[in-house]
Amino acid sequence: MRQHRIGVIGLGKIAQDQHLPVIAASEAFTLAAVSSQRGLTAPGALAFRDAGELLRGTPGLEAVAICTPPQARYAIALQALQAGMHVMLEKPPCATLSELAVLEAAAAARGLVLMTTWHSQYNAAVDAARDLLAGQTVAKLFVNWKEDVRKWHPGQAWIWSAGGFGVFDPGINALSIVTKIMPQPVYVTQADMLVPANAEAPIAANLRFGGAGDLRAEFDWRASGGETWEITVQTSAGTTLLLSSGGSKLTVDGVLTVEAPSREYQGIYAHFAALLDAGQPHVDAAPLRLVADAFMIGSRTAGEAFHD
Ligand code: NAP
Repeated sequence: MRQHRIGVIGLGKIAQDQHLPVIAASEAFTLAAVSSQRGLTAPGALAFRDAGELLRGTPGLEAVAICTPPQARYAIALQALQAGMHVMLEKPPCATLSELAVLEAAAAARGLVLMTTWHSQYNAAVDAARDLLAGQTVAKLFVNWKEDVRKWHPGQAWIWSAGGFGVFDPGINALSIVTKIMPQPVYVTQADMLVPANAEAPIAANLRFGGAGDLRAEFDWRASGGETWEITVQTSAGTTLLLSSGGSKLTVDGVLTVEAPSREYQGIYAHFAALLDAGQPHVDAAPLRLVADAFMIGSRTAGEAFHD
């Protein structure tokens, strides 16, 4: 198997929890360099404080994974593509749809691989749900995605600022499952968002989707008694699918059908390696489009200030 020399940009929570260990265990990738504004390092890799320095200073670099907050991703990704690198974008891939379109065109013009990563899509239970729903009509969809922001995003100021997505930062994971499994087009017709008085992004949001049936989503960051990451789908034929634990478990009509340990990032890196070997891009804007539409047509209610 060909080894790809990769750099990781932004050594925050997801880079440390997933990208670095998965690369270290991968036969397809070698960690050539990291860049960290705070000066963090990784064993065996060159270390830089700036993405531009990493791109210029790493011999034989082929690709980068950009693990910064979404607001910083576009400028770094464009710089990387202009330097001739293949690019993996953490989710959400950019702060806007237009940014993603520019990156897609820039990658295509240079024959480079651009990959959007929607980690929740890399679950066997999600694939099984998609296969079961193929050709069916959905009568009911309910996304119930609730967690405690203090537990999952402590001290992350960027999630509350414009372009930080607020509760859609986890919510977009659910939407990435929805866009993968639904046998019919999914589009937002109504969004109601609750925005803390001291924030620019919502702490809770309810969505309605168009088309026949009762299709809804609820996202809430104020759940203190544990997290709920569930998607229920009922078909017009009467079958009920429940994807739970963030998409890692599938129950069909009350019977547990698929349950597998999480290997989302192993799946992401295996997919990236296959794309690099084939010279093929993978850009999926659908989950980002749903969130963009929610922000476009949604109503905003001001809530009480939120403090970490
Ligand atoms: P985080 O812990 O806040 O880490 C982001 C890191 O990016 C920072 O620690 C900083 O690292 C770097 N950074 C921040 N601002 C930057 C800027 N303006 N320019 C360049 N680098 C900057 O956030 P995270 O939880 O890892 O999330 C990062 C992305 O991964 C988000 O888009 C998030 O949705 C996604 N994600 C997170 C999780 C999760 O469980 N946390 C899961 C899946 C995906 P340095 O100081 O090292 O540069």
